[in-house]
Amino acid sequence: MDLEIKKIIDLHKIDQQILEIHDSKGALPGIIEKQENKVEDLKSILKDGKKELKTITKSIDDFSLQTSDLTTKIEKYNSQIYSVKNNKEYEALLKEIDFLKGESANAESELSIFKAKKEEKETTINDAKTTLDEINSKLGENVEELKVISASTDKEEKKLSKDKKKILKDMIDKKFVESYLDGTQTFKLAVLSRNACSNCYSSLPPQFILNVKKRDKLYPCPSCGVNLYWEE
Ligand SMILES: [Zn+2]
Repeated sequence: MDLEIKKIIDLHKIDQQILEIHDSKGALPGIIEKQENKVEDLKSILKDGKKELKTITKSIDDFSLQTSDLTTKIEKYNSQIYSVKNNKEYEALLKEIDFLKGESANAESELSIFKAKKEEKETTINDAKTTLDEINSKLGENVEELKVISASTDKEEKKLSKDKKKILKDMIDKKFVESYLDGTQTFKLAVLSRNACSNCYSSLPPQFILNVKKRDKLYPCPSCGVNLYWEE
């Protein structure tokens, strides 16, 4: 194989590797950021939930006290029924008892509404706590992973860019090097993989594959025109 072509292929492979490193890091920081946002959301849900729970519990205490006061009053009036002196007093007492019973029923109904609210709020808080624990543990793992990746890839990236510099220096076609460096190079390469072009994924005829496998030169893909090479 032409040495110059081999250099172009090597350059292409290095670029692919650098791209892969960026991809492997590229996903993690995004995931970490999303998880950090979710943790903040859950923390504020928990904070608000606890505040609301406090208010609800206060209302339950108030209505409990109110119903027990009303029950005491009703009992007291009920016992007075036997000592009334006339019908007028009797009627007045019954009316008062009826009124208190109505008040008591209202308080009981409020009490049960707040008890249901309390249960609902407690479920929300517990669910948020569970989710927060799960996300926090995943977040911790991801932060660690990114640290490890960065530690090993930093080294690899440095080596790759060093190799790249060497290839570019050794290249005879300086015009290619120049256009490569300023990003105007349009010479595209792709590997032939699984009997197909890895750029456009179209299947290639057996004779064409045999030619590419000879590695005597680069063969342009009949579908997309990219220069195909064979990797052993
Ligand atoms: Zn193609």
